[in-house]
Amino acid sequence: MSTMMGLIDELWYLARELVSDEYDQALQRLAEEAPMTIHKYPSGMPAWTWTVPEKWTCHEAYLETLDGRRMIDRADHPLHVVSYSLPFEGVVGREELLEHLHVHPYDPDLIPFVFKYYQREWGLCLTQKQRGALDEDQYRVVIRTSFEPGTLKVGEVIVPGEVEDSFILAAHLCHPAQVNDDLSGVVVGLDVMRRLLERKKPHYTYRFLILPETIGSVAYLSQHEDLIPKMVGGLFLEMLGNDSGLALQQSFMPESQSDQALTAALRGVDPQGFVGPYRTIINNDERQFNAPGVRVPMLSLSRVEHPQLLESMYRPYPEYHSSADTPAIVSQARLEAARDTVLAMVLAFDQNAYVVNHFKGEVFASGYGIWIDYRDNPEGHRSLFQIMERCDGTHTVAEIANQLGIPFQAVWEIIAQFSEKDLVSLSRTRQPTDPHTRKL
Ligand SMILES: [Zn+2]
Repeated sequence: MSTMMGLIDELWYLARELVSDEYDQALQRLAEEAPMTIHKYPSGMPAWTWTVPEKWTCHEAYLETLDGRRMIDRADHPLHVVSYSLPFEGVVGREELLEHLHVHPYDPDLIPFVFKYYQREWGLCLTQKQRGALDEDQYRVVIRTSFEPGTLKVGEVIVPGEVEDSFILAAHLCHPAQVNDDLSGVVVGLDVMRRLLERKKPHYTYRFLILPETIGSVAYLSQHEDLIPKMVGGLFLEMLGNDSGLALQQSFMPESQSDQALTAALRGVDPQGFVGPYRTIINNDERQFNAPGVRVPMLSLSRVEHPQLLESMYRPYPEYHSSADTPAIVSQARLEAARDTVLAMVLAFDQNAYVVNHFKGEVFASGYGIWIDYRDNPEGHRSLFQIMERCDGTHTVAEIANQLGIPFQAVWEIIAQFSEKDLVSLSRTRQPTDPHTRKL
């Protein structure tokens, strides 16, 4: 088995377009790392309000002077051509050419990643410096691309649980020659699944989807409508290998148990971790899962620079969507820290349940020998009685943790002690014990 960084080194430079041979090649390689089902959706297939795109291939693309001096060449970097650019060959005047050239918004040395999946025009990308050197009146443009019927592919790794209700992890494999967005999420998700497969069978079923951004989620969901009612939560993984801190974006339904458990678990593994509302940190495939008619509470985990500063030009990270998003900006250590965070979240989600009291009144603590060592569990020691008074069959472990602002793991340890003394039990459904609760 390859390490996460090993897989990145192998696969990052491939031109992983939405539907393309090099995307397929990368997915095929990942399928050697974990048991994977590959779902196939043909170009032209309707997917709710969308249509699966054609396969796009760039055979050659360059810009040269009329006397044959190459100014830019896709052979030097896959980002030199706009993804899904129309083919074009001809001599164009400088003014017209400039309308089809794209540069990075602020860094003069970077080639930007530009995609025109649905606009249908031709275009090339280059550095600001390269554009500045274009001082002739006319240039020759050669873009040899082809559009043909192909197959969109979604990889799915499943860890079966005791119940069919499933928690969805997802990451996107598209984006030519880029790493943090989002090959980093792909390798983290894959490693999480490899570890879950080694553990004892979880309660929920876990599904990890590797897909081309947006259209991959819509295609998969539209072809698995029967599974949607059983999807009880999810987490989109993106941009997890760089040096920024972790940021967890809540789902469209922030009160969901998925939100409660993941948020409370993050507090335990990364107290500095940032938590922000839906659509305020990063926008990606979690939108398709949270959308009307689907409504799966899917959160999103990423490493984002200044997550609280929506206007910062360096968001989500300085190398985003450019030729600088290379293996040099990610590390095995950061990927492992992200993986361990995701594992802690998954574990919390899997354990989370309503705490049902068997006691009435406040427990005679010294009589029951309930003593929380503050050295082992300081939050628990401080909060023992606050936790106890919330054990009434209407609060989950995660909800108790969030009400008290302490980690899921701290509450879990206390509840485990109560449970050992038979003071409480755990239930996957709400079991109110308030004698005033009318059961209608
Ligand atoms: Zn992107």
